[in-house]
Amino acid sequence: MKVYLDNAATTPLAPEVLEAMLPYLTENFGNPSSSHAFGRKTKTAIEAARRTIAQHLHCTPGEIYFTSGGTEADNLAMIAAITDLGCKHIITSKIEHSAVIKTAQHLSEKHQLQLSLVDLTPDGSVDMEHLEVLLAAHGRSFVSLMHANNEIGNMISLHDVGLLCAKYNAVFHSDTVQTMGHYPIHTDTLNIHFLNASAHKFHGPKGVGFIYINKSIKINAAITGGGQERGLRGGTENLYGIVGMAKALDLATQHMEEHAAHVREIKQYMIQQLEATIPGIRFNGRSKESDALYTVLNINLPESDNADMMLFLLDLDGVACSGGSACSSGASKGSHVLEGIQALRDNCASLRFSFSRYTTKSEIDFALEKIKDHARVATPA
Ligand code: PLP
Repeated sequence: MKVYLDNAATTPLAPEVLEAMLPYLTENFGNPSSSHAFGRKTKTAIEAARRTIAQHLHCTPGEIYFTSGGTEADNLAMIAAITDLGCKHIITSKIEHSAVIKTAQHLSEKHQLQLSLVDLTPDGSVDMEHLEVLLAAHGRSFVSLMHANNEIGNMISLHDVGLLCAKYNAVFHSDTVQTMGHYPIHTDTLNIHFLNASAHKFHGPKGVGFIYINKSIKINAAITGGGQERGLRGGTENLYGIVGMAKALDLATQHMEEHAAHVREIKQYMIQQLEATIPGIRFNGRSKESDALYTVLNINLPESDNADMMLFLLDLDGVACSGGSACSSGASKGSHVLEGIQALRDNCASLRFSFSRYTTKSEIDFALEKIKDHARVATPA
């Protein structure tokens, strides 16, 4: 049996999404910028996809721009805030995705801007009082805080952070890559300038995503070229990717409650079983709590002499999970997120399990057996 429990890294493509994409890989091949009928047909498909996404985000189609995924959109928001929107100070946290934290470090060095890291509570939640202190102490700031952490599942309130940013005239970006398609997002009720998504996190194709840019702000071209994406991002569009992404978001949004209930049940079952069978097990961050991202569970196993091998052993047994973020899964270096909340412990394996609407209870049972087998190995003398 092969069990896939790494859905925060990527999700399998939904069959309905593949079906929606196929005509755009075959007969509907026109360049969307061409003025003839072939081009008009694919241009129409792209604009229909934009309208669908805008509808789900409660914004206007003009506020949605297609990108190559989450990383590009994170970069785009951050570069625009610094170069076009007059931000002189960056606030983020040490447990952001590398696409944000590394870009923040790069931009602060390149433009000689101060970079502040907001304090975190011991369980890895953003300290809102410290965020206000940072905002009050500086000129126009750019704030980038992810909606849900991809490793430990901690969430922020987009509403509360948005209000605070508005009070201090700050530009607010949230990486919503892990929550898009899993939680309702009503941009019309939020004070937010940028948020972004990646289709492969909600059963869409890889290599495509989007950024929401609030209509109140104007930014310069991120990629100059043929003027696609209303001049923001030149280059022939990822037509079938965009069509697939809109279909994937449509499916995820239409059945959100049903999918969420299923995944929450699966996760709860796994927590109960782990607690009942592995004495001393811990849960990293808030991943066990009901206010955390429901697709992610991050555990810390008791001390054992095979801690370093745990991911590898589970993989050999047919269980795919992760030891850190997608980008460092399989790598031996520790996770910057777990390090950031001081959750790394010598000889104790940390594992992230992430679920999807396709995950079944029998898959969880299979994974639990294997985890228990390896966790049982004698502790060092
Ligand atoms: N942001 C978060 C929170 C993620 O989990 C990921 C993917 O791991 C990304 C950004 C990057 O997205 P993409 O793979 O589309 O570049």
